[in-house]
Amino acid sequence: MTLSGKTAIVTGASSGIGEAAAFGLANAGANVVLAARRTERLEELKVKIEKETNAKALVVKTDVTDKAEMEILAEKTKEAFGSIDILVNNAGVMLLSHIKNDLIDEWVRMVDVNIKGVLHGIHAVLPTMLEQNTGHIINISSVAGHEVTRTSTVYSATKYAVRALSMGLEKEFSTTGLRVTNISPGAVESELREHITDEEVRANLGNKKRTLLQADDIANAIVYAVSQPPYVNVNEIIVRPKLNY
Ligand code: NDP
Repeated sequence: MTLSGKTAIVTGASSGIGEAAAFGLANAGANVVLAARRTERLEELKVKIEKETNAKALVVKTDVTDKAEMEILAEKTKEAFGSIDILVNNAGVMLLSHIKNDLIDEWVRMVDVNIKGVLHGIHAVLPTMLEQNTGHIINISSVAGHEVTRTSTVYSATKYAVRALSMGLEKEFSTTGLRVTNISPGAVESELREHITDEEVRANLGNKKRTLLQADDIANAIVYAVSQPPYVNVNEIIVRPKLNY
């Protein structure tokens, strides 16, 4: 129960990595605030968390692209639990495509969710974390934030941006009680790929010889990062699936 007495907000908690992270943090003792747009999923997760762990969960319907909704998310968290100790900026979309196919609306959506959503999260929790002089921001980037492929140009641009935000935050607040961890997952089994519309990309999905990571593998990395003693600063974690051999 390393996180008992702490409160964690998880964006994108309605599926995949966010859902696993929320459960993992609750299992480690933190009360969790579940944020996403699909509230039925969040309500189901709240029931599971409160049945299977000792933690409490709060559901707050949130679109991360909406600054006001993110501010309300932070306010409701404080009202319910009194502090904001952890923010997992996890909500994201991966609409891989070839630039020549000009899916500009999808490019803009990725910028809105993956970059603006993270900025809104930082904006919403920072005053509270600075006032508390303690807090941990986890930003979920990607291996696509370290490498660019032929179809990841815009997605990678957003995930490089997330890493830049993590690095800048870490430096700016290094002399405060805040900590920042950037987590870069490789391919994880989730709903993420289902939203891809570029047919050429869809046709080539799953070509690599590897066993996909599970959402719990990333949740474990998140729980590890936030469970360290205050003098330990885990800045970057990369978790890739091992290639089959
Ligand atoms: P999922 O598609 O399973 O989950 C994405 C989550 O983001 C959902 O809970 C969804 O909730 C939420 N979301 C999307 N748009 C919004 C929005 N506008 N407002 C609030 N929530 C939103 O994908 P993963 O769990 O795999 O992905 C989670 C993160 O991990 C993403 O940032 C992704 O880029 C990153 N990642 C994933 C990898 C993978 O292979 N799966 C690899 C590397 C990084 P809802 O629709 O209910 O709002």
